[in-house]
Amino acid sequence: MTHRTVIVGTGIAGVSAAAALRSAGYEGAIDLIGDDPELPYRRPPVSKEIIRGDKTADEIRIKKAEWFDAQDITLRTGQHVLSIDTAARAVRLGPDEGILYDHLLLATGGRARSPWGASGVRTLRGLADVPRLHGELAAGTRIVVVGAGLIGSEIAASARELGCEVTLLETASQPLPRLLPPRLGDMYVDLHKQAGTDLHTSIMVSSITDVDGETVVRAIDGRTWSAPVVVVAVGMEPNVELAAEAGLEIASPAEGGGIVVDALGRTSAPGVFAAGDVANQPNGVLGGRHRVEHWQGAQNHGTAVGKVMAGGDDPFVVVPWCWSDQYGSTLQVTGWPQASHEMVVRGSLDDRDFTAYLLDDGVIRGAVSIGRPREIRTARAWIGAQERLADVLEDES
Ligand SMILES: Cc1cc2nc3c(=O)[nH]c(=O)nc-3n(C[C@H](O)[C@H](O)[C@H](O)COP(=O)(O)OP(=O)(O)OC[C@H]3O[C@@H](n4cnc5c(N)ncnc54)[C@H](O)[C@@H]3O)c2cc1C
Repeated sequence: MTHRTVIVGTGIAGVSAAAALRSAGYEGAIDLIGDDPELPYRRPPVSKEIIRGDKTADEIRIKKAEWFDAQDITLRTGQHVLSIDTAARAVRLGPDEGILYDHLLLATGGRARSPWGASGVRTLRGLADVPRLHGELAAGTRIVVVGAGLIGSEIAASARELGCEVTLLETASQPLPRLLPPRLGDMYVDLHKQAGTDLHTSIMVSSITDVDGETVVRAIDGRTWSAPVVVVAVGMEPNVELAAEAGLEIASPAEGGGIVVDALGRTSAPGVFAAGDVANQPNGVLGGRHRVEHWQGAQNHGTAVGKVMAGGDDPFVVVPWCWSDQYGSTLQVTGWPQASHEMVVRGSLDDRDFTAYLLDDGVIRGAVSIGRPREIRTARAWIGAQERLADVLEDES
């Protein structure tokens, strides 16, 4: 009997799962289905080299087209999976088209959140969003970016590099609020200012509307900013609809949203797994659950769940790690830094050459670094082992 694994989502989690299935010796059929018409690509360069025009789509492919053929993976791009029948173990692609599965992986990621619909509002999630926005980011053009998280900050930095006049608005009191503790967030206030980005924090946007050919952003305190184009980068919405309609357990927004999975990536339906940005997974280090939206997390999770679908039983326990490139500096963040943590800095914040360790009662819970890749790798291992900073530094000396 031929086994068949269907993977929904051609992002890094889906592709990594397909690769892991084959590496683990799985010989059944693999259908990798995604509604993005592009050959799978790496998303992180989209807000960096791609939006600036420094790289082409073909330079950011996850795998070459020939790889999918060589691995005997049926890649179906530009196809939207309409529904899942978990009792019949089938996915539906159209009125008369369905595929039966033994195992199904939902690697459906997320979409850019956009609460405002004015004609000048843009979002950036994938290659399809690039041509129009890139065309609009000409030197000298005014642009407003709403949201100074990872993607909004990178778009602002890329737009400055292209010579745009950039206004960046953030609800929190500093940029990268979900990633950085306040002292380090302040460093990014300076970085934006030095680069000429007009950053305003503690701004609660109430509306974005079209007025006389301009797009006007209004804050609840009455202040307004306007530009021909406003990029909204206020987070992503996990694509849980397929799973929810099939009756799978979904985490509440307070729990981080997403499809609930166990440490092996199994959802509440037999034979159905989820991985990557869409999966709400157990936190194997701190306990509880979390949903991670980082490239390497999605890659490793897809790989781990692919191995499980091939018959493995290793739980997925990984300390999150991500990076962000802004104005020529690469920031790396690992673990779970919190504003309440004590911070111990090695190196110099002023020179942007440092590693900051974030401690909870002496135990390392997070680390943030610029220019020190080896230290952040080590810090990540310490966080996983729940080490005390004083102990590991003593061992080092
Ligand atoms: C612009 C940008 C820059 C980023 N930069 C960084 C960075 O610098 N560092 C970092 O660590 N992370 C970064 N990230 C985050 C990182 O890219 C994501 O965490 C990662 O790509 C998630 O991969 P995924 O496979 O889980 O989901 P996705 O990449 O979202 O892929 C899911 C795919 O499934 C498709 N899909 C959904 N529903 C269906 C359906 N019903 N039928 C068919 N297909 C469906 C979606 O359209 C999508 O193509 C960035 C993200 C963006 C958007």
